This record gives sequence, C-alpha cells and structure tokens, in this order.
Amino acid sequence: MSRPRVVIVGAGFAGYRAARTLARVTRGRAHITLLNPTDYFLYLPLLPQVAAGALEARRVTVSLAGTLPGVRLLLGEAGRADLDARTVHYTDPEGGTGSLGYDRLVLAVGSVNKLLPIPGVAEHAHGFRGLPEALYLRDHVIRQVELAAATGDPAVRAARRTFVVVGAGYTGTEVAAQMQMLTDGLARRHLPGGSRPRWMLLDVAPRVLPEMDERLSRTADRVLRARGVDVRMGTSVKEATRDGVLLTDGEFVASRTLVWCVGVRPDPLVEAVGQPLERGRLIVDPYLQVPGRPEVFACGDAAAVPDLEHPGAFTPMTAQHAWRQGRVAGENVAAALGLGRRRRAYRHRDLGFAVDLGGVHAAANPLGVPLSGLPAGLVTRGYHLAALPAGRVRVAADWLLDAVLPRQGVQLGLVRSWAVPLDTASPELPRVPDAGGPAPAPADTAPGAARATAPARSEPDGGAAGNRTGDEPAQNRPSTPGPAGPRPAEAEAQAEPAPAPDSPAEAEGDA
Ligand SMILES: Cc1cc2nc3c(=O)[nH]c(=O)nc-3n(C[C@H](O)[C@H](O)[C@H](O)COP(=O)(O)OP(=O)(O)OC[C@H]3O[C@@H](n4cnc5c(N)ncnc54)[C@H](O)[C@@H]3O)c2cc1C
Repeated sequence: MSRPRVVIVGAGFAGYRAARTLARVTRGRAHITLLNPTDYFLYLPLLPQVAAGALEARRVTVSLAGTLPGVRLLLGEAGRADLDARTVHYTDPEGGTGSLGYDRLVLAVGSVNKLLPIPGVAEHAHGFRGLPEALYLRDHVIRQVELAAATGDPAVRAARRTFVVVGAGYTGTEVAAQMQMLTDGLARRHLPGGSRPRWMLLDVAPRVLPEMDERLSRTADRVLRARGVDVRMGTSVKEATRDGVLLTDGEFVASRTLVWCVGVRPDPLVEAVGQPLERGRLIVDPYLQVPGRPEVFACGDAAAVPDLEHPGAFTPMTAQHAWRQGRVAGENVAAALGLGRRRRAYRHRDLGFAVDLGGVHAAANPLGVPLSGLPAGLVTRGYHLAALPAGRVRVAADWLLDAVLPRQGVQLGLVRSWAVPLDTASPELPRVPDAGGPAPAPADTAPGAARATAPARSEPDGGAAGNRTGDEPAQNRPSTPGPAGPRPAEAEAQAEPAPAPDSPAEAEGDA
C-alpha cells in the first residue's frame, strides 16, 4: 500500500516543528516532504546578535537534513498551491520548476517585511527578516563608521555615524540596543575626538515594546537611553531620501542608514491560495485546518489561529506560538491520516517574553515575573539555548568568546544593498541580477539565491523585482541590465558620481 503524502511548505518555527513531530509520530508510515528555499531552519530571535557580531551567521541556523530524519527536504519556493488539484507548484534555487501532489498540506510560510506607503522608504530602507539583511546591516554599519572616520567633511561624518531604526517592537529594540554596542566599540578604534555613533529608535507608539508588559518597556527604555540611544516615541518617518530621513515632527536627520522594523505581513503565498484571510493571514479553525478544506493545515505567522485563551482574538505572530502550533499541526495531520492520537485544538497560554538588549542586559517576564539586568540576561540566554533545536554548544561558545574578546569589526561586503530590497517576498534569500543580461548562470554563482525574475515568488504589486536600493557604490552593482534596460532606480544608481573622499575603496581596513 502506498504511503500517504504530506507536503509541508516552509521550514521555520511552525514548519520545522510540524515536520519533526509528524516524522516522530508516523515513523515511516507517511511520505513527508518539506519544501523550503534554504537547507536550514533560521532561529530568528538571535538574528540581531548576528548583525551585531556577537554570533556568527551559521550559529542561528539548524540543518534540516541533519536534524529531521525521515523527512525529505526539497529546496525550493512554492509559487502556487492548487487546492482543487491538491498540488503545490514550486521553483528550485536554479530556476527549475516542479510540482508536488499531496494528501495533506501544511502551509507554514511565515511572514515578510511590512511596507507602509511612505515616500522613499522602499528605496532607501532595509528590513530585518532574514540572514541576508542581517549580514548586510552588519557590513553596512561597519562601513559607515569606517567611512565616517576617513572623511574630512564634518557633515558627512555626522550623517554616516547616525543610524535610524523605525519600529520599537522586539526586533527594532533589539537591533538598536545590540548595534549600538557594536558601533560604540568600533568608534573607540576609528572615530577621532571621542565622537560617538548616534542610534535613533522611532515609533508612533507611546513606548518601546508597545505590545508587551509595561515593565518590560520601562526596562528596555532605561537600558537604551543609558547607552545613549535617542529614543523618540510618538515619532515616525515622513519621507526617506538618500541623504537622510524627514521625521513626522519636521526634523530632518542626515543619515545613510534606515532600518525598517515596523512589523511583518504574512508571506504573499497565503493570499495566492485563494481562501478567506484575516488581515492577510489564512483563517484556520482551532485544529489548524482551513474551513472547508480539511486536508489543508496552516500555522505560524501565515495563519490566523483562534486564540482560545482570548476568545474573539487570533494568536499573535510570535515564535512561541508558531513553534507550538507546528507541533499541533504535526499531530493533527497524523491523526487525520489515522496514524496518531485524536486531533486536538491549539491552546497556549503566554509564557512571557524575553528581549536581549546586549551585554548582560535584557528585559524578560518569564511566567509573568518581570526581570531586568543580569537575571533577565541569564534567563533570556538560557531560554534561547533551550529553545534552539540544535547547535547550542556553538552558540554558547560564541557568547563566551564575545564576553572576553573584542568583536571583529571587519566588513566582508558580500551582501550588497541591491541584494536585500525591503519589498521582497523572499527575505531569506539575497537577490541575484536579472536573467536578461550575460550574468553568470545561477548554478555557478549563487546556489539558493533568489533571482529577480523568479516566476514563483513574483511581487504582489508587480514591482520591486529588481534592484531598488541605489545607495551602493556603482562598481559593485550588477552592470548589465535586462532586455528592457535598467529600471529607474538602477539607472539612477549607475549614474551616480564616483563617491569621492568617502569611497569604500579608500577606507582603511579594520584592526
Ligand atoms: C529579528 C526577529 C526577531 C524575533 N524575535 C522573536 C522573539 O524573541 N520571540 C518571539 O516569540 N518571536 C520573535 N520573532 C518572531 C518570530 O520569529 C516569528 O513569529 C516566527 O519566526 C514565525 O514562525 P513561522 O514558522 O510562521 O515563520 P518563519 O520562521 O519565518 O518560517 C517561514 C519559513 O517558510 C519559508 N518560506 C516562505 N515562503 C515560502 C515559499 N513560498 N515556499 C517555501 N518556503 C517558504 C521561509 O524560508 C521560512 O523558512 C522575531 C522575528 C524577527 C524577524
């Protein structure tokens, strides 16, 4: 008898856990395929520490093949799910296409950067939703400090050492806190006269961590301000330009760095499924099944899961929920195939939150008990070590080294601005140049890299498929436009005058 086929799309918190649970429960009696663009699960909560150089990038990844026995990994991105035909269509990392039939489908495709219609933001801001963006930010910030040190123009220096983060949720707060520590260390080596880098954290909300316990907000606010972060609540961005940011209070802040952490929206694949949505998330019942499509399950950020602890509400988009929903999805799929126990509804009480602010500082409220300082720091790191599915020793070793050694302040420059546009359906992959010109074959250059023209993950608004951010040196940008010629943003960037005294080429390497 042939084994039932289960396809899980997305190997984040929800999809990874669903695959692991299903493999454990079914023990070879189901054919489980996990479709994901990367060969790893990304532990997103530690991403700010990758950008800040406390952790190396591979530490926050978990090999799918190495940790999911009994699960077939298929590298690729789903572009369409035909629920009537019970088929998922996908594109592999080298542009090949294929389709997968299923008896049960689990959609766990997560979320992408949220955009707001603010002039200039799509062109000049960068998000923080994947490894490419974290690596880009680390290099970009280090480069800005180095260029600030190299220039003789005080206005340029001030702009280069000013960094603006928008969104004071956990992502923006951690990014500002962690990156401020990185640049302070760099400034001691690079910037003359004790001039410190300036980090600004903006949000329209009245307090940092607006969706969390007020006591966490107070702790985070205190730590940020004590470190010199310019915390501006009730303030956002009115317009972004190449030279800086116009704030909603009318002030213009000269800066070359705008980090966009205003939140996330569900992955565009969800909309393409054509089922009812709740604020972009696929509506499911408490068993994580799509109403009227019992063979389709959804969980994590992509799914609007009824919050049984708060009737009428849906569970928030957090790793905590995604991880636990993944387990329930795995168990319920097994139950639906007659291979496990009875299906159960998803119910989970909030266990608290932990926000790592760098060094020994954190804000945490495990089981509702508010902590700050060293106890919060220990609880936060202990929590992450416990939550990581693998690689704990390496993470702990990095933390230990970081506690006793200065951070490496070098920029490798491997991820450039144009490779990580804010408006992307694939934040987990850096963009590669369009297929139109004589760019090297994708197979030779960037395995796993999203092509600007990849058919499967076309942008919902028809735009942003190419290189929109034009703030990088022309010599490192893809020089061959596609058949239709350069997009406007590209043309502008290519026409840029060679960046004179601030050119990265002239910047000194780091110690
Ligand atoms: C910087 C940062 C820090 C965070 N910190 C915390 C924290 O401290 N605590 C907390 O609770 N939450 C935190 N979150 C939120 C948390 O990470 C998310 O809620 C969680 O990752 C959602 O899990 P998921 O499985 O739904 O999606 P994800 O973990 O994003 O996984 C989605 C997966 O689907 C894949 N995928 C997407 N589209 C396709 C497609 N078309 N085809 C195939 N595969 C696809 C992606 O590559 C990815 O592997 C943080 C988020 C960020 C960005």
